[in-house]
Amino acid sequence: MLRYSKYHAMLKKVLFKFGVLLRNPSLENYLLFLKESDHWTEEKLVDYQINKCKEFLEFAYKYSPFYKEIFDKNGFKPAEFCDLKQLNRLPAISKEELIKYNQEIQSNYQFKKLFVASTSGTSGQLLRFLKNEEWDSHTRAAIFRGYTWYNVKPWDRNGYLWGYNIDPKAARKIKLLDWLQNRFRLYTYKSKEIENFARKLKGAKYLHGYSSVIYEVAKLVNKSGLKIPHNLKMIKGTSEKVYDSYQEEVKKAFGLKMLIEYGASESGLIGFECPQGSIHIAMENVIIEEEDGEILVTNLLSRSFPIIRYKLGDSIKLADSEFKCSCGRSHAVILDIHGRLGEKIIGKTREFPSVLLNIFFKGITKNHGILLNYQLRQNFKGLVDIDIEQEEHGNGPILEKELKNYFKDDIEFTIRYGQHLHKMDGKLKNFITTLKD
Ligand SMILES: [Zn+2]
Repeated sequence: MLRYSKYHAMLKKVLFKFGVLLRNPSLENYLLFLKESDHWTEEKLVDYQINKCKEFLEFAYKYSPFYKEIFDKNGFKPAEFCDLKQLNRLPAISKEELIKYNQEIQSNYQFKKLFVASTSGTSGQLLRFLKNEEWDSHTRAAIFRGYTWYNVKPWDRNGYLWGYNIDPKAARKIKLLDWLQNRFRLYTYKSKEIENFARKLKGAKYLHGYSSVIYEVAKLVNKSGLKIPHNLKMIKGTSEKVYDSYQEEVKKAFGLKMLIEYGASESGLIGFECPQGSIHIAMENVIIEEEDGEILVTNLLSRSFPIIRYKLGDSIKLADSEFKCSCGRSHAVILDIHGRLGEKIIGKTREFPSVLLNIFFKGITKNHGILLNYQLRQNFKGLVDIDIEQEEHGNGPILEKELKNYFKDDIEFTIRYGQHLHKMDGKLKNFITTLKD
């Protein structure tokens, strides 16, 4: 048995390395570089960023008709770039603009290898663009560097959770890809299957996927009293906000807290949480600015489709430059990702971005020690329904008082407790509105 599992592990490693060689030839060397720069001082990292950014901006000026025009219009000369602050002479760009000026942004440079990437916009429109091989590979390398912080190898056995039920026809192809990546997943969110999935975690090294789904599975594991003798080394939440209120159930079910991997297809990996709980920015790959509490990303890898001062749409808080993480890394830290600025909650006289809800409920936890999972719905101006997952437990008056302090009389709330929030049909939304701006 031991012999078999040893050979099996080796086979998975060989398969993984072979796959990488074919698909991402520049990954391996870049990962070696990242492991070295992991120990760099802040000064050295910033110097590296300035040089790399200058090269990147010069490239964009030469090959992207859109940016040539933008740079010229703003009198911006990439050859004179010598300080990261100079970036703010350029305008920020939104996803809608990336969609609108798609053709002009795309570089007219002959890359050896390109991948097609797509991601959906807020209005349901698709953003499609081409990703050069280095962009894709170097993003993956930065994620895998994060794995090394937890002693996890990318080819280690892993469980994967995402928010959709899978069509049986597509399942066969996914099963093959999963086998190649030593991965197993849930195909439907039925209690029996979730139990089987949880049992399989016994031999796995890590668990990853949509954070809300990891939370749902953790709850079921705890409720059913399943005792899994796991030796998971890492649980990684992606694609959605990781709420503090998830951590208790996740720890109880799997013995570890869920860490945050923060990024998007167009931005690449932005940050990865270290074992000391800081989200370190992958400074070798991206430059992060905070403008009015909103994140701006310059993706230094994005030569085929330059992403410069991109409004990803999240509200974040950066640590100040004195902040030192006890893990010893000098990479800048994101203190908090409040979440998507999102849609507007419409009050009687004012409007509120829905991200305020995350900040509001975090305050409830901080000031009163109450952890709540919530979902809000709005169909009428000034009226909002709140569904809370937890039972009331005498917390009702506190919540009502705080809502009144925060939103004054501008919104009337109707609160229901003990509600089931996740429909398992995609990402979990915390604000659903039928009102249009
Ligand atoms: Zn750290």
